[in-house]
Amino acid sequence: MNIILLGPPGAGKGTQARHLVDGRGMIQLSTGDMLREAKDSGTEMGNMVAGVMARGELVTDEIVIGLIKEKLQGDTGGGFIFDGFPRTLEQADALTRLMDAEGQALDHVIEMRVDDTALVERITARSTCGDCGEVYNDKTAPIPADGKCSHCGHTEFKRRADDNEESLKTRLMAYYKQTSPLIGYYYAKDKLGVVDGLGDIAVVQTSIAKVLDA
Ligand code: ADP
Ligand code: ADP
Ligand code: ZN
Repeated sequence: MNIILLGPPGAGKGTQARHLVDGRGMIQLSTGDMLREAKDSGTEMGNMVAGVMARGELVTDEIVIGLIKEKLQGDTGGGFIFDGFPRTLEQADALTRLMDAEGQALDHVIEMRVDDTALVERITARSTCGDCGEVYNDKTAPIPADGKCSHCGHTEFKRRADDNEESLKTRLMAYYKQTSPLIGYYYAKDKLGVVDGLGDIAVVQTSIAKVLDA
């Protein structure tokens, strides 16, 4: 099964993707993670996108489509979870073409709805494990009291450079202007399932499972 998790920054896409990886053996394809890796390892592409990402603007379609294309040609595991991709109609069309070429299809697009005030609160309190990328939140999903990642035991955690209110405003605007048209696009393709992303992490997980297992 191949799915897209669609939602604004902070909606909980990464958190839920990790549950699906653990629970169903799916493969998480996060273009945000791929771009951050390129940036951290200082590749030419990484250096090129660093400023754009820090400001909260979208990286060019060409770059992210290239990243996804590479991954689709690899192991398909228990199916793909597209997390943070596609973000434009151009990317959505490219994904359809790439999947067709691999004899693959999209099963569900899950729109995670969370209101803007909650997004700001979530993002400014977000951190991730420096080793495995497990997602934490100062308020709603704190790092264990012993200071060790519950997933891998690592003891260093990172905050994202773009997780500040200023960049978040640009990211939200990019979501509403460039990404939200995908909701109608996938509704028209009969792929859209909507979940309330405001509940507890476990409740959202159950809502997503209901869509996938329907
Ligand atoms: P979030 O988890 O907050 O939604 P991501 O980690 O998905 O953010 O993305 C971080 C940044 O990486 C984005 O603000 C954007 O600059 C860039 N990016 C990630 N995915 C894409 C994409 N599909 N298209 C364009 N830019 C992207
Ligand atoms: P996205 O990948 O959509 O940007 P994340 O999964 O990184 O979102 O979640 C953003 C922040 O909100 C993280 O700090 C995460 O721990 C927290 N979070 C995720 N889901 C929930 C939820 N259902 N309720 C409360 N906090 C959540
Ligand atoms: Zn970890």
